[in-house]
Amino acid sequence: MNTQTVDISTLIRPEIQALAAYHVPAAADYIKLDAMENPYHWSEELTVQWLDTLKHVAINRYPDPEAASLKQDLRANMRIPEEASLLLGNGSDEIIQMLLLTFNYQGRTVLSVEPSFTMYRLLAQVIGMPYIGVPLQPDDFSLDMPVLRQAIVRHQPTLIFLAYPNNPTGNLFPRHEIEEILQLSSGIVVIDEAYAPFADDTFMNDLRRYPNLLLMRTVSKLGLAGLRLGLLAGHSQWLAQIEKTRLPYNINVLTQHSARFALQHYHVLETQTAQIRQDRSKLLQQLNALTGITTWTSQANFLLFRVAQAQAVFENLKAQRILIKSLHHFHPLTQNCLRVTVGTPEENQAFINALQLAIQSVS
Ligand SMILES: *Cc1c(COP(=O)(O)O)cnc(C)c1O
Repeated sequence: MNTQTVDISTLIRPEIQALAAYHVPAAADYIKLDAMENPYHWSEELTVQWLDTLKHVAINRYPDPEAASLKQDLRANMRIPEEASLLLGNGSDEIIQMLLLTFNYQGRTVLSVEPSFTMYRLLAQVIGMPYIGVPLQPDDFSLDMPVLRQAIVRHQPTLIFLAYPNNPTGNLFPRHEIEEILQLSSGIVVIDEAYAPFADDTFMNDLRRYPNLLLMRTVSKLGLAGLRLGLLAGHSQWLAQIEKTRLPYNINVLTQHSARFALQHYHVLETQTAQIRQDRSKLLQQLNALTGITTWTSQANFLLFRVAQAQAVFENLKAQRILIKSLHHFHPLTQNCLRVTVGTPEENQAFINALQLAIQSVS
């Protein structure tokens, strides 16, 4: 091929050229506390049972395009109201993409708060939908309601994404403020409840009250991140349109059967998440006992904390084979902030020990 005639700068959209690809660090040999994964696997017995169900899967056939049985199981386990429609995605990331594909049209905008989940902005840029990021308040990462109200009235965003609890800050925004946003918005408000298994509140029962509310969940943080399965619940008038942007067989046959098996053993996942919630409190206490650390309470399976020279602390932890997430360069409000996923008690203790060493050696 003659490459001289191929000019990347004219063939690729400038928005794509300007993007940094989503980077996931290699994690071999690390204690991996960077990605909000559930650290627990299943018992040998349960694993054998699971693999047994997969024996009978017709891998030569396309999967059920509607994933009807899986949807029924999800409805039951996640207590989705009967009147709500349901749409599945290959992770909730894919659902965010479908939402943007559906609603992007002639200057319409998407709004979220910052710092929050990267995919809202990143996928908006990929799809070419103008994105508005409204900063949270410094110090406690609460909603800046005066600025938000103004932005909503001025831009009339077609889509608003709110993570509840928020990532990477871990807080739940006050319910009454989200309800005000639902009332004020002439567009769709997507409440992303990826961390529902660890939170004390949900908008699931508000779907019938707010026709412009769509609720997103995922099984990733519950303990099934490898399956890639997310869901969107809401009024059928919206979901029927969003369905048109879904690729026909987006939920593969192994995911459909494995997720159904896992949901039949939901109590196992619930026991694990209950353990993680408990260990979250202990880890927070341990962080608070260290000098020079600012913490925030969390309703998710991770904790955000601030420490002097966070980037150096992060690198030092990495050299000790402990991988967490640095948010130092992520957003001005998360300067010197690090985020740690709650692991097993042993992993958490190893992290605390390593953190103590790291703080000593960088100061
Ligand atoms: C992790 C996360 C997701 C991604 O979920 P997947 O189903 O794994 O794609 C979505 N939203 C938030 C806020 C998250 O933190």
